[in-house]
Amino acid sequence: MLSIVVPVLNEERGLPRLLERLGAMLAGLGRPWEVIFVDDGSTDGTTAALLALNARDPRFKAVVLSRNFGKEIAVAAGLRYTTGAAAVVMDGDLQHPPETIPALIAQWEQGYDVVYGTRESRATDTKLHRVFATAFYGVFNKMSRTELPLGAGDFRLVDRKVLDVLNRMDERARFNKGLFAWVGFKSTGVPYRVEARGEGRSRWRPRQLMRFALDGLVSFSTIPLRVWSYLGLLISACAFLFALYILMEALVFGVTTPGFPTLIISVMFFAGVQLISLGVIGEYLGRVYEEVKGRPLFVVAREIGLDDTAAPRATGQKAAQP
Ligand code: UDP
Ligand code: MG
Repeated sequence: MLSIVVPVLNEERGLPRLLERLGAMLAGLGRPWEVIFVDDGSTDGTTAALLALNARDPRFKAVVLSRNFGKEIAVAAGLRYTTGAAAVVMDGDLQHPPETIPALIAQWEQGYDVVYGTRESRATDTKLHRVFATAFYGVFNKMSRTELPLGAGDFRLVDRKVLDVLNRMDERARFNKGLFAWVGFKSTGVPYRVEARGEGRSRWRPRQLMRFALDGLVSFSTIPLRVWSYLGLLISACAFLFALYILMEALVFGVTTPGFPTLIISVMFFAGVQLISLGVIGEYLGRVYEEVKGRPLFVVAREIGLDDTAAPRATGQKAAQP
């Protein structure tokens, strides 16, 4: 059986078109399937549409989260409810063409455990977004021992054994792309063309993207945290040399009093360095705090068409069912 996980946030208007294309693809699949929508706190008619859908065809199921938890967590929630031998994660806005799924499955049948879709181009992104993304991947791959495959988005197929590892990861600052890469296993890419969003617009705001990028870096690298000791060593060495120089100068030429610029520059420079390093420690500490509180990763308000036996898989919190 194949499970398909689709996070949706206010996609009511785009849903019919998605179902049309997804349905056509599934009809020709030739194997049992389930589609698990994760309603990530939609405020439009998405939940009602999902209910109606499940009544029509019980293979379409849904998890309704109690509020908006963000796409990464929504995906994590969906994956925990999957029962298939493999799961495909795809966006609900038709940017991940359902027609590519058979190609992903073909690679899986060849023995690959993770098959990720790679974007043929980033033409649908803004220029600024592209520049930022390139910079991010460059920095990430330099700083982290987890290698992110270039151009790989969130569109991917994962085998059950990878899912089982992933489902046991409870971290809150979630960066799924990194987590998939971290788990390892035999992986390969399948190119796909990103289409323009079917309906509405991207939910990402620049600030959220920044936060997301920071989450990614911080959860996969401790270099920003450690770099300060090396920097400190370097600066101390410079200071020592400078001290020697001043001492020699005083011994040879006698004591002179200039040096105000040097003084004020170094005071300001070191104050800056210290604040930056404190800020970096704060970034990590804040995340440690989030993790240590041990709150559930997500809260499920309602399960639609999902077998209750699936519940123990979900380490998220479930509200009492009416
Ligand atoms: N999404 C979600 N929760 C969120 C934001 C987005 O479940 O907080 C869903 C959204 O409905 C869509 C997918 O995640 O199915 C991708 O969202 P979007 O198109 O906004 O992101 P982008 O394609 O720009 O990365
Ligand atoms: Mg999109």
